[in-house]
Amino acid sequence: MTTQQQQAYEWAKSKKANYINGQWQPPERLYLCHNPATNTPIGEVPSTNQHELDEAVSAARNSFHNGWGNYSRRERAKALIQAGQIIREHQEELAALITLENGKLYRESLEDDMPDTADLFDYFAGWTDKFYGETAPVEPGFVNYIQREAVGVCGLIIPWNFPLLLAMWKIAPALCLGNTVVVKPSEETPYSLLRTLELWDAAGVFPPGTINVVCGAGDVGSLITHHPDIDKVSFTGSTATGKKIVLGSGESNLKTVTLELGGKAPVLLFEDTPDLDAAIERCFHVAYSQKGEKCTEPTRLLIHDSIYETVSQKMTERVNGIVCGDPYDADAYQGAQSCQAQFEKIMGYIESGKKAGATLLAGGEALTLPGEYKNGFYVQPTLFGNVDNQLAIAREEIFGPVLILQSFSDEEQAITLTNDTIYGLAAGLYTADVSRAHRVASAIDAGQVFVNRYGCYDFASPFGGFKQSGWGKEMGIHVLSAYSRVKSVWIAYD
Ligand code: NAD
Repeated sequence: MTTQQQQAYEWAKSKKANYINGQWQPPERLYLCHNPATNTPIGEVPSTNQHELDEAVSAARNSFHNGWGNYSRRERAKALIQAGQIIREHQEELAALITLENGKLYRESLEDDMPDTADLFDYFAGWTDKFYGETAPVEPGFVNYIQREAVGVCGLIIPWNFPLLLAMWKIAPALCLGNTVVVKPSEETPYSLLRTLELWDAAGVFPPGTINVVCGAGDVGSLITHHPDIDKVSFTGSTATGKKIVLGSGESNLKTVTLELGGKAPVLLFEDTPDLDAAIERCFHVAYSQKGEKCTEPTRLLIHDSIYETVSQKMTERVNGIVCGDPYDADAYQGAQSCQAQFEKIMGYIESGKKAGATLLAGGEALTLPGEYKNGFYVQPTLFGNVDNQLAIAREEIFGPVLILQSFSDEEQAITLTNDTIYGLAAGLYTADVSRAHRVASAIDAGQVFVNRYGCYDFASPFGGFKQSGWGKEMGIHVLSAYSRVKSVWIAYD
């Protein structure tokens, strides 16, 4: 570890506070956060109560009316660019905190998470003055213009898999339009966000109350969802929690809700897959990198009968070659799962697959590493073959390093299997036939379809699921609709 990384770990040990109205507010209650790679305590973090949340919401409301909400678009853009630049300048320290709280490899934190976390502020800074209104062609004697306004105070609830990146996916577009926010990181992963707020605070990037951070578990998320003075909630997490968020909105003030939920992404490998080795390599990497804790990761590989054996053999070799280890080991490919509950959930699914008679091609056990990592939450990368689509491992989101192989005999069966899921976040297909690519992409019931390269992302392209994978979109122009409301103004001129 470098000195900077060690300093980040030292910083995390001190008792943390919520960031409310530009102040670090000593909490009334605390909980203990753990490092999942070693299963040892990191330090104490606030468990926010109603009174503290009320203060955060009131600070956000005040900044919306009297602070950030009144900034000119140019001032907002400058602040967003500065916010991204500060993240960029501290990327090593922040990456170390992500690894500490989440268990992923340091290389993944630094190279996968950090660049987008900083750069998306530049993208949304560009949108501050480009999200135009409209005029409607109404009857003579009237002008009808349609303006887009900020929603107000947004509650942002974040999961643990990309703790800083997914927080910024919401913070940047919300602030870009003049909203103010109350953010709750996952109880497992609060550190990278808290440290970022310290850095922004020291540089005076945002006026007090613009971004408030309240820490804690699902009970705090529920207080946010039910809060009568929060105008909107944007949530990323599990489908089960997403349903509770919708209920919370209905039971309180009907705040608008955006949901980015679970997935069970299939990838179809047709017999004419253009470069089969490249396709296998890509699917392998997207399925097993970040220890399989990615909502869009391919979890079901649907393979044409004629190439099933080849794919199965090559994928098995690849998975058996994965090295799990110390998140700072340059040779390691897989770090620790994010927390004990997630580790137990994954192991439960692996056991259920074995019991149900799926063919275990690789892995299948928990892993005990030597030395300080011996109690860490490590799972052998696992591969099941010939999996019946009715098994739990084929139907439910595992969110770990577990991939299943299934076969199909024709296009119709492939599409049926693809859509036979409650989820609709992402799907992929590989074929050399352009007509089939369009036909199948159109038939797939998912918010993102990747043809001949699984897993493409760009700030300009909308990200979000169909069915029980969510409501609304992140990224691109589409996310701006989620953080704005449309007002129709009529002017009579006769
Ligand atoms: P989770 O639903 O357990 O928790 C997510 C967040 O919600 C946490 O901050 C948690 O404290 C909070 N929360 C828990 N109960 C709550 C309640 N009753 N009311 C309000 N908030 C509550 O999810 P997780 O385990 O942290 O994350 C993994 C899940 O996130 C997976 O299902 C994954 O697919 C999903 N995910 C989806 C996307 C996407 O963009 N679609 C991206 C990343 C992760």
